[in-house]
Amino acid sequence: MRIARFSHDGDVSFGVVEGDTIAQITAHPFAPVEFTGGRAPLSAVKLLAPVLPSKVVAIGKNYAEHAAEMGGDVPERPLIFLKPSTAVVASGDDIASPPSSERVDYEGELAVVISRLCRDVPEERAMDVVLGYTCANDVTARDQQKADGQWSRAKGYDTFCPLGPWIETELDPSDLRITTRLNGELKQDSRTSKIVHKVPSLIAYITSCMTLLPGDVILTGTPEGIGPMQVGDEVEVEIEGIGVLSNPVVAR
Ligand code: MG
Repeated sequence: MRIARFSHDGDVSFGVVEGDTIAQITAHPFAPVEFTGGRAPLSAVKLLAPVLPSKVVAIGKNYAEHAAEMGGDVPERPLIFLKPSTAVVASGDDIASPPSSERVDYEGELAVVISRLCRDVPEERAMDVVLGYTCANDVTARDQQKADGQWSRAKGYDTFCPLGPWIETELDPSDLRITTRLNGELKQDSRTSKIVHKVPSLIAYITSCMTLLPGDVILTGTPEGIGPMQVGDEVEVEIEGIGVLSNPVVAR
């Protein structure tokens, strides 16, 4: 099932994408799905970020080739950091490049959407708390990441967490092609099989620290090939079995 959040005629709701139409559901996707009977062409609605997370938990350096291009190894334990909920935007929304940064990078990533309140989840039961998967761009002010020593500012600007276009609920995340294109040119091209700390171990590790809530999002790290975006660029993150997350870059 492909679950999207959308606005149509001034109303915001969740729906299930079926081909080129969207079927409205009664409440939210964290309860059993019931259809209202409302249906609209996808082209007639505005897709919103598929969830409004209380927090986005991101993983640094979780592909060996990316850790190497950053000048290091994959950490023995997952390296976690937070992106604020206010950084989340939808596919099609602008990424606003702030005047304070000389270098704003794309990072295409597989995002995991959590289905229910959970903590201390054992690895064997981790998949029970997953609603599905979407595409993410962990936009980063690279110069500020290096200058600050920690990453809250560099990763936390408004619009620095595009998510979408929807949540795919029936997907095995273990070996999917993940690509990032800038103005149509292929920049990142890898497979999720190269993720070092896998989704179940990430969920176990994160929930041994903090409670996750329905709609919370885990960004699983980016493969090699990161690079800068300029105002006027269009960046696309595509994951096999999910779809394409596309965003223009504008000046803030
Ligand atoms: Mg990242």
